Amino acid sequence: MNKVVELVIVGAGPAGIEAALTASTAGVEVTLIDSAPSPGGQYFQQNPQGFKKESLAASQVKAQRFLGRLSSSKVTVLNHTLVWGIFEGTQPGTWCLTLHGPTAPPRLHAQAVILATGAFDRAIPFPGWDLPGVITAGAALRMIKHQRILPGKRALLSGTGPLQLQTAALMVQAGAEVVAVCECAPALLKRGVAQLPSVWGQWERIKEGLDYLNVLLQARVPYRLGWAVTAVDGEERVRQGAIQKLGPAGNPISPGEVFQEIDTVVLGYGLTPRTALVRQLGCDMEYQTRCGGFVPRRDSSLQTSRAGIYAIGDGAGLGGAEKAILEGRLAGYAVANQLGYLSEVNAKAILARDNPALRREDRFAWTLATLFSPPAGLYALADDDTVICRCEQVTLGQLRHAIAAGAQTVNDVKNLGRAGMGNCQGRTCGTIIAQIMTVETGKTVEDLRYFNIRPPIHPLPLHVIEEYNPGSFQREDRQ
Ligand SMILES: Cc1cc2nc3c(=O)[nH]c(=O)nc-3n(C[C@H](O)[C@H](O)[C@H](O)COP(=O)(O)OP(=O)(O)OC[C@H]3O[C@@H](n4cnc5c(N)ncnc54)[C@H](O)[C@@H]3O)c2cc1C
Repeated sequence: MNKVVELVIVGAGPAGIEAALTASTAGVEVTLIDSAPSPGGQYFQQNPQGFKKESLAASQVKAQRFLGRLSSSKVTVLNHTLVWGIFEGTQPGTWCLTLHGPTAPPRLHAQAVILATGAFDRAIPFPGWDLPGVITAGAALRMIKHQRILPGKRALLSGTGPLQLQTAALMVQAGAEVVAVCECAPALLKRGVAQLPSVWGQWERIKEGLDYLNVLLQARVPYRLGWAVTAVDGEERVRQGAIQKLGPAGNPISPGEVFQEIDTVVLGYGLTPRTALVRQLGCDMEYQTRCGGFVPRRDSSLQTSRAGIYAIGDGAGLGGAEKAILEGRLAGYAVANQLGYLSEVNAKAILARDNPALRREDRFAWTLATLFSPPAGLYALADDDTVICRCEQVTLGQLRHAIAAGAQTVNDVKNLGRAGMGNCQGRTCGTIIAQIMTVETGKTVEDLRYFNIRPPIHPLPLHVIEEYNPGSFQREDRQ
């Protein structure tokens, strides 16, 4: 019989690490898994091995402290290990996770599972967005902060929110010429003042944003509010980019301007929660604009609709590193309570203690979403020849054909034209197709749903599937 671990956590970002430390300190036996070579996730990401740096930024000092606690804990950490599926286990009330990694067992059984899978960059398509040289803000930041590589010498930025502001400032500081930053949100000052009560006290974060703005100001970088990049062009790679002013619904309303001789366009339209595993499990989902899209429905202990499966951090609704840590703590205690290491009374007391901080982070996340959600009109920038599903090379024209042929949901579009069936399994195009369909059909995203997903959730070498015992796979899958 397979050994059953008490708690498996998928994702070693701030949420997953805090959950692991909390549960382990309470006495729970914890295995923490991440596909990255080292723990840290997005926020506490570590530099590659052998990489030397003269001084550390404040967030890196914090990361080292956080990761130090992990390495001196009893938590078993499996790096470089992808969780490619999750199923009901053979013993009642247990779960089976299927793994792929150099030192990982092929599967692991657990009494409880915390999914802390984070988020990924959101892109918005327009003519030319698939040219080399067009990258996302997350990728640009990763290159600058962790690899010390400048993504390009002459860059145009388009997007919304603090991540793109940070990207622009760091690009300038790293020596790039930033020709313009287009922030699609209009009238930020006026709308920001209206939000002051909900961000009251968040002075450090506000100061960080103002510092980035100041960098742009000093470098005389044009910061266009209510503008966006609407098309880019080039032969081998991006060479020119057009920007236009947007109307209230996000549709371009001016002839705009064209920037020549650029080599990079950075898109920073925020993040989308990574929900492949909760969807594969069939957890109840709900659409929440402020959380970044479809997210699992959770109870007050952050448990999903499937007993023993918890979802926390950005993967359960965007909120930033502090919120991810708070949710990690809460879920760690909830599992300790579920497994009998913490009394109900103590669990409730902890919930009451941490709730105000969590509510404060929730309010902040809500404010950011209110100020910086991309407007619907931006999803009408692509033309018939624009590739929407890059893995399967499906164009907007082909999507329109599927809609005209009767597609009612994003899954119908997938079935009729292969969009979302490629390497990324619809991670990038899933949200885009839903948003485009709202523009084309007038339906809501809730009506259009999200791509169904089957294991493996990521591409795998065929030998992994071959080595997997198919009989046992089917048994666990069907329970
Ligand atoms: C470029 C960038 C800059 C940011 N800057 C800030 C900032 O200044 N301040 C701030 O508060 N927030 C910032 N954020 C947001 C912050 O990083 C996130 O809110 C925070 O990291 C969320 O923590 P998390 O634990 O939920 O997820 P993450 O940190 O994203 O960690 C999720 C982990 O899960 C792993 N994973 C996912 N799926 C699987 C799987 N199937 N198998 C194995 N492993 C898996 C991933 O490899 C990843 O390591 C930034 C985000 C980005 C992308």
